[in-house]
Amino acid sequence: MSVNLKELKRRRTFGIISHPDAGKTTLTEKLLLFGGAIQVAGAVKSNKIKRSATSDFMEIERQRGISVATSVMAFDYRNLKINILDTPGHQDFQEDTYRTLTAVDSVIVVIDVAKGVEAQTEKLVNVCRMRNTPIMVFINKLDREGLDGFDLLDELEQKLGLTVRPLSWPIGMGQRFKGVYNLYEQKIILFRPHGKQDEEDVVEITDLSDGRLDELVGTAAADELREEVHMVESVYPKFDREAYLRGELSPVFFGSAINNFGVRELLDCFVEVAPPPLSRPAEEREVKPEEGSFSGFVFKIHANMDPKHRDRIAFMRICSGTFERNTNYLHVRQNRKMKFPNPTSFMAEKKMVVDEAFPGDVIGLYDSGNFKIGDTLTEGEELHFKGIPSFSPEQFRYVNNADPMKYKQLDKGLEQLMDEGVAQLFVKEDNGRKIIGTVGALQFDVIQYRLEHEYGARCTYEGLNLHKACWVTAKDEKALKEFIQRRKRDLARDKHGQLVYLAESAWSLKMAQENHPEIEFHFKSDF
Ligand code: GDP
Repeated sequence: MSVNLKELKRRRTFGIISHPDAGKTTLTEKLLLFGGAIQVAGAVKSNKIKRSATSDFMEIERQRGISVATSVMAFDYRNLKINILDTPGHQDFQEDTYRTLTAVDSVIVVIDVAKGVEAQTEKLVNVCRMRNTPIMVFINKLDREGLDGFDLLDELEQKLGLTVRPLSWPIGMGQRFKGVYNLYEQKIILFRPHGKQDEEDVVEITDLSDGRLDELVGTAAADELREEVHMVESVYPKFDREAYLRGELSPVFFGSAINNFGVRELLDCFVEVAPPPLSRPAEEREVKPEEGSFSGFVFKIHANMDPKHRDRIAFMRICSGTFERNTNYLHVRQNRKMKFPNPTSFMAEKKMVVDEAFPGDVIGLYDSGNFKIGDTLTEGEELHFKGIPSFSPEQFRYVNNADPMKYKQLDKGLEQLMDEGVAQLFVKEDNGRKIIGTVGALQFDVIQYRLEHEYGARCTYEGLNLHKACWVTAKDEKALKEFIQRRKRDLARDKHGQLVYLAESAWSLKMAQENHPEIEFHFKSDF
């Protein structure tokens, strides 16, 4: 029953989001390198960290060719403990990313300078904005030709709805890329391709009319910078930390992650302004991190880390108090006490058992099937953390058992995969057939593969054309009963037994809504 305020205040937990290929992985590795380089100084060691930054999680990603895991990586920097929750880039695993976003306190969005704002970025930033998550933007790949800086800022405002404030500004780009001007600290940082930035490459120029600027980057580039910085200062609002923390103002940085350029500026600003662990809403009340009693929730379950073992790891975000190893906690949904002998933390390249964890931390709990996404642990209070909704899947298929001897295995496998959040399972109200709903086609392959390899069960699929699944409720119980009677064919239950309407088309959904005004249709599960 205590909280360690010193440790709590040291935590910064965030996620990096982007459209695939914008450079999220590269940026993550460079941040880890900075974290390590600061402690161990010296190129050899840095290289080593760089190599081992490819953690187990990334190895899995590489093997499968896509990010199937949300990795957690932590490092120390300037006496802060920084937790990066990496998010799968592949759009078929978007739901994992949404769930991870419930466990962070802020995000960094990576944008490819040549591509600008892409589809995936839009969706993810939307989710962040729903939650007022503070957002920083890193515009990457300045060593290549790309869009004009001001056009990019316009895109960020128009497509993402962000109010932006550049805190660094590029001096040229592509072949002509000379460096960035750090508007926050009024310094020029010169670019040397594939070289590490060192102190000599940083020149303090507080007054842009200084003639040294012309000497450093050439008169044409110097004049262009002067003009553009003048524009920035007159067009964009001053940086205001409070506005950033409210999610209303996003600082923007420019750089090149692969060249480790502009990354330090981003990180230095991040550690200065990013929020420490924030309060989290539970159905019952708001839970503050500095409360004495421990609480936390599961936002991700990862199966089969080690193919030789069937166990899973449930990733838990600590919300309040101190989590202690081998201590009894209440598993709220199951209403029973559990303790954990081997809670695991992730420090960049290595896993280790932890005795204690603090708000903002993410720990891995070995699990043999007790946890579902969204589960809460507390010291005894009945808390249910909010904000891990399910959305309607985009693709649906009937799932059939392909081996009559193995129906138990199939049921068990399906149940566990659904608890992990791999997909959603619906059971038809009229005939009990099972339907799997996913965000992308890829999950169907993953499910089939994993059922066979982890549970010894085989399944086949049968196509099903559905537009959407929506959760339905009604205040009037009689009306709901009638609706169920009349529309049995189009109804199913989700894994919580909630009633779901399966709409064949946008039109049939609209008709159902019009014909049944007494029924409420919900497009996400947390109504
Ligand atoms: P992710 O899919 O967002 O994780 O992207 P990656 O970090 O894997 O990067 C995608 C590709 O872009 C890789 O080939 C990187 O080497 C490359 N890349 C990353 N940062 C830069 C950069 O600053 N400049 C250039 N030219 N390429 C980059």
